[in-house]
Amino acid sequence: MEYFGHVIDGQEVASVDGATMPSVDPYTREPWATVALGGAEDAARAVAAARAAFDSGPWPRMGFEKRQAILHRLADLMEEHADELALADTHDMGKPITQARHDVARSVWNFRFFADHARMTSSEAYPMDSGHHAFTQYDPAGVVVAISPWNFPLMLSTWKVAPALAWGNTVVLKPAEDTPVSVTILARLAVEAGFPPGVLNVVHGYGPDSVGSALTANPDVDRITFTGESGTGKIIAAAASRNLVPVSLELGGKGANIVFDDADLDNAVHWAIESIFRNAGQVCLAGSRLYLQRGIHDEFMARYTAAAEALVVGDPKDPATQFSAALASEEHFRKVTAFLDEASLGGGRVVTGGRFTDDRSDGWGVRPTIVADAPEDARVVREEIFGPVVVATPFDTEDEVVALANDTRYGLNAMVFTENLSTAHRVSGRLKAGTVWVNCFFIRDLRAPFGGVGDSGVGREGGTFSREFFTEPKAVVMQITR
Ligand code: NAD
Repeated sequence: MEYFGHVIDGQEVASVDGATMPSVDPYTREPWATVALGGAEDAARAVAAARAAFDSGPWPRMGFEKRQAILHRLADLMEEHADELALADTHDMGKPITQARHDVARSVWNFRFFADHARMTSSEAYPMDSGHHAFTQYDPAGVVVAISPWNFPLMLSTWKVAPALAWGNTVVLKPAEDTPVSVTILARLAVEAGFPPGVLNVVHGYGPDSVGSALTANPDVDRITFTGESGTGKIIAAAASRNLVPVSLELGGKGANIVFDDADLDNAVHWAIESIFRNAGQVCLAGSRLYLQRGIHDEFMARYTAAAEALVVGDPKDPATQFSAALASEEHFRKVTAFLDEASLGGGRVVTGGRFTDDRSDGWGVRPTIVADAPEDARVVREEIFGPVVVATPFDTEDEVVALANDTRYGLNAMVFTENLSTAHRVSGRLKAGTVWVNCFFIRDLRAPFGGVGDSGVGREGGTFSREFFTEPKAVVMQITR
């Protein structure tokens, strides 16, 4: 089995105490890689390397053009190693290989986009009547700790790392313990691309009482960017507040997907399938609450059920597989299946799906699952399942569906399907969500703000929103006339 160490100060190293952990492929349920298992000392080493690289190394001082060239070189190397990177995520968490390849392409784009964006973005100048002018200078913030989840291991890590680096910061990245491999390959490639030592460090290990908590408590850290569960986000925000460190939190979701009577049904069914069964629903943006206007309800459900049952289920390494026969881990499988017990359904019924009952019944998979007739207070409607389980509910009026969609502690995203322009504008304006997709899903412009309201997060990233977080904006006021 290949070994993956921490990457600290430009070197791939073992843990101080020599500890390792296996990375388990959830489809085979066998370990497929051995990974360094870090602790507090390894976290401290990584922060010290990033601190030194920031305080006295070339990276924050070399200017945008040179950083841009190095970031593009890394993107080139990622493209050369795209198969290896994609396969790592597929082994680590069971994502279908076609989707993992898509994630790699998007990760490459994260680097290219932010490398160019940081160089091209202008700052503000304020001519003053008093014979002065003021301008904004965006200084790098310092040492950034990035903590990422297991559902898009490479893509969500690079979404943080790329803007942080492009703006001149140094980074310590802690991937989720279940998905350590792709970002280790990334850090190896960064060394090859010519990153100075200590600029991008990767340290492996668990969250609580381990590497994660040690990183968030370290007083030498200047920014913490976190993606993961809402409960973990609250713990991290509390840790950050003790050192007055700004945090960006991208947390859970319970996306509402609203289909009006006048929607293009082919399009709506297509996106309703994608939004909950892509990556087996292990997506913060999943459209896990489907609201169908009464006039199309029955026809939609017939088409939707048929489309869910037609998804090609199988080995995630097979390019023909559309839906992985394994969720990300045994622990996650247990969590998702617990939502299908009678108490969680609250009287709702499973229209299609549920646990596998064939030759895969001893695996960690759940079929594409559609639930109907669940009351609004059922756990399956209220809580984030983070699996391939959607609850379909009929509605009559626009006011009714807006109230249902907004009746959640989350507010990450929502989808609206209608051919009526006024309905689209009115409803998207009324929804409590960081992103609303109209007649589509998952389409991103990296200049646009990304984040959530309520328990879905704090702050926004993307384009100049990432700049706000990863820099210290400084006002410089100059006298022009005496
Ligand atoms: P998680 O919160 O369990 O873990 C995320 C990361 O935090 C991991 O690296 C973990 O090791 C670390 N961690 C855990 N406890 C910690 C602590 N006390 N201190 C420091 N680090 C700690 O989340 P997960 O199960 O990996 O990911 C799934 C969750 O992520 C879902 O809720 C999902 O909605 C959310 N998510 C949100 C977005 C978004 O952009 N809003 C994107 C993807 C996933």
